[in-house]
Amino acid sequence: MNRILHHVGGAPFGEAARSGAVFNPATGEQSATVAFASAAEVDHVVEVATAAQVAWQQMGLVKRASVFFAMRQLLIKHTDEIAAAITAEHGKVLADAAGEISRGIENVEFAAGLVNLLKGEHSTQVASGVDVHTLKQPIGVVACITPFNFPAMVPLWMSASALATGNAVLLKPSEKDPSTAMILARLWEEAGVPPGVFNVVHGDKEAVDALLDSPGIGAVSFVGSTPIARHIYSRAAAAGKRVQALGGAKNHMIVMPDADLDSAADAAVNAAYGSAGERCMAISVLVAVGDATADAVVAKIRSRAQSLTIGAGTDPTSQMGPLITREHRDRVASYVAGAPAQGAEVVLDGTATEFDSEGFFLGVSLVDRVTPRMSVYTDEIFGPVLSVVRVDDYDQAVSLINANTFANGTAIFTRDGATARRFTADIEVGMVGINVPLPVPIGAYSFGGWKDSLFGDSHIYGPESIHFYTRSKVVTTRWPEPSESQIDLGFPSNH
Ligand code: NAD
Repeated sequence: MNRILHHVGGAPFGEAARSGAVFNPATGEQSATVAFASAAEVDHVVEVATAAQVAWQQMGLVKRASVFFAMRQLLIKHTDEIAAAITAEHGKVLADAAGEISRGIENVEFAAGLVNLLKGEHSTQVASGVDVHTLKQPIGVVACITPFNFPAMVPLWMSASALATGNAVLLKPSEKDPSTAMILARLWEEAGVPPGVFNVVHGDKEAVDALLDSPGIGAVSFVGSTPIARHIYSRAAAAGKRVQALGGAKNHMIVMPDADLDSAADAAVNAAYGSAGERCMAISVLVAVGDATADAVVAKIRSRAQSLTIGAGTDPTSQMGPLITREHRDRVASYVAGAPAQGAEVVLDGTATEFDSEGFFLGVSLVDRVTPRMSVYTDEIFGPVLSVVRVDDYDQAVSLINANTFANGTAIFTRDGATARRFTADIEVGMVGINVPLPVPIGAYSFGGWKDSLFGDSHIYGPESIHFYTRSKVVTTRWPEPSESQIDLGFPSNH
């Protein structure tokens, strides 16, 4: 059985006194064990990273930037290897795995501009003989704690900018699919990141809490579910750290009566069932404006969804793979099974689909006439289940979305420019799509939701990440002539 250890100081590390099981979701078989770090092991890794960070910070910026150009090429070269590792432990289809790698490459490309990104400001002659300039300095060692659903992209969201700004990184990937992080560690080092600057520590709550409490960690980036994000934010902030903790989601897509309903149905199927609905930007609620719109779009989604091919992610004909674990699959199925008793209409029942496999497969479900009190609506299900809520008009649709505690992404499908423009202003959600169901910002912008989808005030990757991973300093300079020196106890004035 493959044993996955931590990667620290450029080498495998750890006793694996405690460990977890890693499964192949397409077969249901255990494929590996992964070490769970103790608090003492976390302390050791922080020491290694702290020592290694000094030289990384001091490396010339042009030379540091060359590491990111090299990493970009390595990620392209090794896309098939990384995608295979993702599919083997996460289950998503290979093309989808390659897609998340390409989105992660965008973050490396952004970080490669670090010479520009780390420029300071300078004002000359703010007073007689006085100049002011700013410095952006690294935080030191940062912890990156990531979810199972994007084992390559989310670690790259964080590590590209954290490393570019001169920090050492301690990545704690999901214990459910830990192998991709090991490939990333190898590639960062091959690209030129010195040993000890990018480390991987595996584990569960014990390892995470040790990171949150460690005085050697200056900042924490977290992506995962809302209850854990809340815990990370409060515990790390109480320990005096800078924290960004991105949480869960319930993303709504409005379909207006004037929308192109075929495009809207295609978009809803792609965004609801892609990656088996295990995306934080997945559409899980379709808000149909008017019964005629609802009847038409439900019929179109139903006919498209029932012909999807579900199978192992390694099979090129599969459009959707299994879910991450047996327990999660069963939990998702329970929402569909419980929906009729709450008054919803199950138009397509994925729990009835049979699979000739021990893998964690589930068919796709479409649940119509959902109301905001039903658990299929209130909870983040994180599976291939699309709920349809029927409303009378645009105002009801916006009120519904704005009343939700999650506020990660949303979309509106319409042909009317004025409605679309008004929506961008009215909606209280962090990322908005106009006829775009998954509005994940490109690497040059930052990603983040509002409300219970983000704890902290900094969005992730892009320009906000440069701010998050650096501390700024303002330097005021005067080189007085000796003859100008005098005693003056007044507060320094610039006039
Ligand atoms: P999760 O919250 O269970 O786990 C995330 C990380 O936290 C993992 O590394 C895990 O080991 C660790 N963890 C789990 N329980 C912990 C505990 N009690 N104490 C300390 N650490 C703990 O999330 P997941 O199931 O891996 O990922 C799916 C969730 O992530 C969904 O809710 C999804 O919406 C969310 N997500 C959000 C975004 C976003 O950008 N907002 C992106 C991707 C995923």
